[in-house]
Amino acid sequence: MSIELQRRGILCIVSGPSGSGKTTLCRALSQADPLCDYAVSCTTRQPRSGEEDGKDYHFLDRDDFEERTTRGEFLEWAEVHGNLYGTLKSAVLSRISRGQDVLMDIDVQGARLVRKNPDPAIAEAIVDIFILPPSREELKRRLSGRGTEDSDQLALRMTNALEEMRHWRDYGYTIVSGSHEADLHRFRAIVEGERCRTRRLHGDDGLVEEHPDLFA
Ligand code: 5GP
Repeated sequence: MSIELQRRGILCIVSGPSGSGKTTLCRALSQADPLCDYAVSCTTRQPRSGEEDGKDYHFLDRDDFEERTTRGEFLEWAEVHGNLYGTLKSAVLSRISRGQDVLMDIDVQGARLVRKNPDPAIAEAIVDIFILPPSREELKRRLSGRGTEDSDQLALRMTNALEEMRHWRDYGYTIVSGSHEADLHRFRAIVEGERCRTRRLHGDDGLVEEHPDLFA
């Protein structure tokens, strides 16, 4: 009989400026790895073409969003680029307690709020990663390359990107973005390493008694 250890889930916070590729990375990992769920956020922003309600975001009107903040439904929420964004507690808490890993693609304000959460189960679950663009030119190229924003929105996102990048040292891990494959490789390596942390493992009651040959 081989050893089976249970594990608490990881709450993986991924931040970085628009255009750093963090959303693509989170999506790619959640598709490739059945143990990782992407926490779909709520937002008051208008859907971009191709975005689906419930898959990319839960698109809410401002009144609905504000009512949910009053009811305490959000683990965190913040105003970003003039719109409200938030993660529902229901998208996170029960999953990590079941041992499922959750990926949150959120801004630096939201990350700060999650770190400040008084629940020890959340504090223990957090793994925070910042994705830095390789250069200012590449950031600009990626931001304008999406073609989804008008010039005012782009200017706002560039200003916010530079502001957001000042907080990279608040994160436990930093990935300087290169190719998608290289970024994904590092991202997976961080998650795999964190899964092996002894403090995340439980189910050791009776382990020595059950496997006397191994622990002899
Ligand atoms: P976008 O409008 O480009 O999809 O996202 C804009 C920014 O909002 C990104 O930096 C993204 O990480 C952030 N964001 C998305 N969902 C959430 C959320 O639930 N909470 C917070 N605080 N930020 C979010």
